[in-house]
Amino acid sequence: MENIRRTKIVDVLKRTDYGQMVNVKGWVRSKRGSKGIFFIALNDGSTIKNVQIVGDDAKFAEDTIKLITTGACLSVNGTLVESPAAGQASEIQAVEIEVLGACDNSYPLQKKGASWEYLRTVAHMRPRTNTFGAVFRIRHNMAMAIHSYFHQKGFFYFHTPLITASDCEGAGQMFQVTTKNLYDLKKDENGSIIYDDDFFGKQSSLTVSGQLEGELAATALGQIYTFGPTFRAENSNTPRHLAEFWMVEPEVAFIDMNDLMDLEEDFIKYCVKWALDNCKEDLEFLNKMVDKGLLERLNSVINTEFVRLPYTKGIEILQEAIKNGKKFEFPCNWGDDLASEHERYLVEEYFKKPVIMTNYPKAIKAFYMKIDAEKPVFNGQEMEETVQGTDVLFPQIGEIIGGSVREESYDKLINEIETRGIPMKDMWWYLDTRKYGTCPHGGFGLGFERLILFVTGMQNIRDVIPFPRTPGHADF
Ligand code: ATP
Ligand code: MN
Repeated sequence: MENIRRTKIVDVLKRTDYGQMVNVKGWVRSKRGSKGIFFIALNDGSTIKNVQIVGDDAKFAEDTIKLITTGACLSVNGTLVESPAAGQASEIQAVEIEVLGACDNSYPLQKKGASWEYLRTVAHMRPRTNTFGAVFRIRHNMAMAIHSYFHQKGFFYFHTPLITASDCEGAGQMFQVTTKNLYDLKKDENGSIIYDDDFFGKQSSLTVSGQLEGELAATALGQIYTFGPTFRAENSNTPRHLAEFWMVEPEVAFIDMNDLMDLEEDFIKYCVKWALDNCKEDLEFLNKMVDKGLLERLNSVINTEFVRLPYTKGIEILQEAIKNGKKFEFPCNWGDDLASEHERYLVEEYFKKPVIMTNYPKAIKAFYMKIDAEKPVFNGQEMEETVQGTDVLFPQIGEIIGGSVREESYDKLINEIETRGIPMKDMWWYLDTRKYGTCPHGGFGLGFERLILFVTGMQNIRDVIPFPRTPGHADF
């Protein structure tokens, strides 16, 4: 076969120098034939679009043609010609075809319209489908958007550890990391496992958040962000939770709640706009095949001002709705954590736009959030203390960002840690930020996959990460 430099399909489809010989390589999406002529739709992942290869049966060995089946990998030399067919400017008149990899007839992606559930069972192959190709190209673009946004704003990308001996939220739900022989665990007289001889000399786990380390960095470099894998062993089998997900966590010194909300809103809009500017064809495909309201929703988010809503006001709205006949499964009295049905009512029905909810009751938020100076009044009564949390709630998604201004006072923070009974012994390094030149600061965590869910219109978080980890599932 003549050696011609390969052109990616995304580039070949832009060319108009008809008559030139080109080489493309890729995987067969489909093949059909009529009257001694065959048509191959070839895709190489560089774009959602296929290039059409046209050939004369008579010009190719029967053995070669037999191997050109859905899924096979080909190298094709041919002439670039203007296409008579609608929907494509050009196609390739095949001169030589080499089958680089034949495809066994057990190929799991033969049929069109396979269910998402089925495709998860063949997650090693699903990137070859149109939808997953689009999702993963968009996922890449969102990662680039994130780095671009923060770099351009003067944030530093700071790497926090994945293995940690502290639990950020003081909650359980962590995966342990150990080299101990689990069949022969040494325990002390109280029955507690002895970790002294474990790899790290203490009980260690996979991180649930890089925030605490991020705060160290923010109080030195001014403004940083982390972007990496995060692990939560929560046994919540929902379409919004993974056991291994990616989180983006900016942390900023000298920021107050308004600046923080501005940052959250500006950041998300930048990412969504990036997708609209850079992923046009993939988004158009998803808009057509997966979610007909997608493009409209993306455009509406970048063109609308997010609502900023104190928790107390939110409860008022929800209770008013209940009075007017709205039914919710879970209660929403002042002090309750909002369920996703409440969040979705506020975002999708009441305001019809993203909502940044603020000033939550202290009891339902993490220990490090700054306590508000004034207690809220609800139904004429003074309520418990609230904190400067700022969660961003999105249509279809619910919580996409969880953020807060952090408590910078050493004494108040210690007090909070003690009343909550958070084990202190591994936290000394975090508390040092409050001891040595403490400063007002804040930040947030964006669940990367929740952003991808929003931007792609996909319904299940398992379908926006290449290899999802959920309870009972760690294949591939
Ligand atoms: P949720 O209430 O939805 O479980 P959370 O309040 O526990 O989330 P945070 O600790 O605030 O989450 O984490 C920050 C962000 O990380 C969330 O806003 C969400 O976008 C994302 N996130 C949290 N848990 C998960 C998970 N298990 N899988 C995917 N993304 C997650
Ligand atoms: Mn949260």
